[in-house]
Amino acid sequence: MMALANTFDSMFDRLEKSFDSERQFTSDASHELRTPITVIHAQCERSRRKDASREDFIESINIIDEQSKRMSALVNQLLSITRLQQGTDRYPLSRSELSRFVRTCCEEFVCDEPRGISLELNIPEGIEARFNPTLMSSVIHNLLQNAYKYGRDDGHILVCLGEDDGGCYISVADDGIGMDEATMDNIWNRFYQADNSRGENCGAGLGLALVKEIVALHGGEVSVVSAVGEGSTFTVTLPR
Ligand code: ADP
Repeated sequence: MMALANTFDSMFDRLEKSFDSERQFTSDASHELRTPITVIHAQCERSRRKDASREDFIESINIIDEQSKRMSALVNQLLSITRLQQGTDRYPLSRSELSRFVRTCCEEFVCDEPRGISLELNIPEGIEARFNPTLMSSVIHNLLQNAYKYGRDDGHILVCLGEDDGGCYISVADDGIGMDEATMDNIWNRFYQADNSRGENCGAGLGLALVKEIVALHGGEVSVVSAVGEGSTFTVTLPR
C-alpha cells in the first residue's frame, strides 16, 4: 500500500513539473513575441506622425521588416519544437551518405554577416548514417549559425566528420567568445541566452534546445567543450 502511495506521489510530482515547464514555455514564448510586436507598433506610430520625413518612413519600414523576420524565425522554431514533441510530423530516418550531406549543408550555408570568418571542412567521403535530412540540416544550420554569431572577427570555423566504433560524429569548432562552465550547463535549456549574447540580431535561445531534441530523436548525443575567449566545439554523435 505504502509503495503504491509513493508511486502516485512521484507520478504527481512528475506531472506537476511537466505542467510547470509547459507554463514556463508558454510564458517565455509570449514574452519573446511581445518584444518585436511592441517595436512594430512603435514604428507604425512613428511613420504616422505628421512630421515624419521620407527617411523616417524608410527607416521604420526597415525596422518593421527586421522585426517581422525575427518573429517569423521564432515562430518557425516554436513550431519545429512542438511538432517534434507531439510527433505530428513524421520524420523517417533512413541510411544514406552523411559525408556528402554535411558537405552540401556547409557549402550551401549563407551567413548574413561573415565578418571575415573562414569556414574549413574536414569531411572524408563515404561515411554513412541513419538520419532524417530535414532535421539533420537544421542541426548543422544551427551549429554553424552559432559558430559565426559567437565567433571572432576574422576567425575560423572547422567542421569535421569522422567515425569510430561508437558511431559517427560531426563537430563544429569556432575560435570565438567561448563560455564558462555555468553557461555550458544552461545552453540546452529553451530560451536560455548568456547575457553577452542578447542583442539586436540574436535569436531567442531555442536553437540548441532544438538541436538536442533532434539529436536525441536520432538516438545520438550532443556535447560541448569550451573555454572563455578561446572558442567552443560542439560535437554530435550518431549511433552506428
Ligand atoms: P541563441 O543563439 O538564439 O541565443 P541558442 O540556443 O542557439 O540560442 O544558444 C544558447 C546560448 O548558448 C547562446 O545565447 C550563447 O550564449 C551560447 N552559445 C551557443 N553557441 C555558442 C558558441 N558557438 N560560442 C559561444 N556561446 C555559444
